[in-house]
Amino acid sequence: MVEDSEWSEDTEVEEDESDLEEVSDEEVSEVPHEPEAPRRLSLENPIGMIFNVRMLRRVVQLLFLLGINAYILAMWIGGEQVLAFWEGIRDILPTLPVIAPLEAPGAVLAGTFDTLQREFSGGIFPFFTLGAMIIILTVLGRSSCGWVCPIGTIQDFATLPKRSKVRPSPNTENELRRIKTYIFVIVMGLAIWVGISRIFGTAEDLVRILGPFATAAFDPFNPAFIIFYEATTQFWPYSLETLWFITQWGLFLGQIAFVILIVGVGIWVPRWFCRWLCPAGWLYGAFSREALVGIGRNPARCTPDTCSVCEVVCPMNIRIRRSPYKALRSPECILCLECKSHCPNGAIVLRFS
Ligand code: SF4
Ligand code: SF4
Repeated sequence: MVEDSEWSEDTEVEEDESDLEEVSDEEVSEVPHEPEAPRRLSLENPIGMIFNVRMLRRVVQLLFLLGINAYILAMWIGGEQVLAFWEGIRDILPTLPVIAPLEAPGAVLAGTFDTLQREFSGGIFPFFTLGAMIIILTVLGRSSCGWVCPIGTIQDFATLPKRSKVRPSPNTENELRRIKTYIFVIVMGLAIWVGISRIFGTAEDLVRILGPFATAAFDPFNPAFIIFYEATTQFWPYSLETLWFITQWGLFLGQIAFVILIVGVGIWVPRWFCRWLCPAGWLYGAFSREALVGIGRNPARCTPDTCSVCEVVCPMNIRIRRSPYKALRSPECILCLECKSHCPNGAIVLRFS
């Protein structure tokens, strides 16, 4: 598979590296590096403070988190024109390479992966969805994972308060990344099987056996589906007398526990769901490796033997120092630019080719 067989940086393993290492922000500042031109934001540089790319990304992430469910806000705010505006957006917006269910009452856009599952299992070949996905990923890479996806955003905010992070060794990381590949093969394989059965008119029994897994097999484990669709359409207890609703929750209780687990583990392990479990992330990574926009390193400034700041801050645990200087072509890179923001030598560059 793309990430494991072709991604050679991770196959060179440092022998003395333990399976799990805990890295703190203090260590980031302790890593020796050339003291050349430290780039600190200060009051003397107010423009730099305002247009700090890290802050900009947080703002964009929050806007998309609200925007993806903007229709629900519009319903709260009320007003015919506001509702009409969001309904109009819902009609024209294509799918984006994130995870987001269009069935959510507040949704104005859908995740490409979610849409592909539904189209394949409905016996439709998704020309438009696939075409839009390939164009976006081959130009902008997985930047929508880093800047737009609501589940990526939730994990990023969960990890913010904790200064120490757990980083598995390259071998362990590679093994764990395989899980999302297997999940992808199973859920997309099921969708295509159901779709082909529909085309040949033999889907009735299969759909009955698969039940809710027949349309989109990943939905019961999809945190975006659980949060933005199931949680918003559940009967929630609104008084002591209605607490008995909880007895009807069944599977939903397990799904809530899974979402809590994603957030809870995410405090120590940045984006662990994206790195190891998200089948959409695997699909997007497969098409974004040769993306036009990406990351490179300036060999005149980078000091890989004495500095590892970029790797310590990378939420996707990518071995940046082992990539070619010219271009980091990793299916895992989500273009969050954390490495660029933190590099003390200004060695990380955004490339456009
Ligand atoms: S890997 Fe999946 S959950 Fe993570 S940001 Fe990308 S689409 Fe969202
Ligand atoms: S390599 Fe840099 S831009 Fe890519 S995911 Fe890691 S920190 Fe973000």
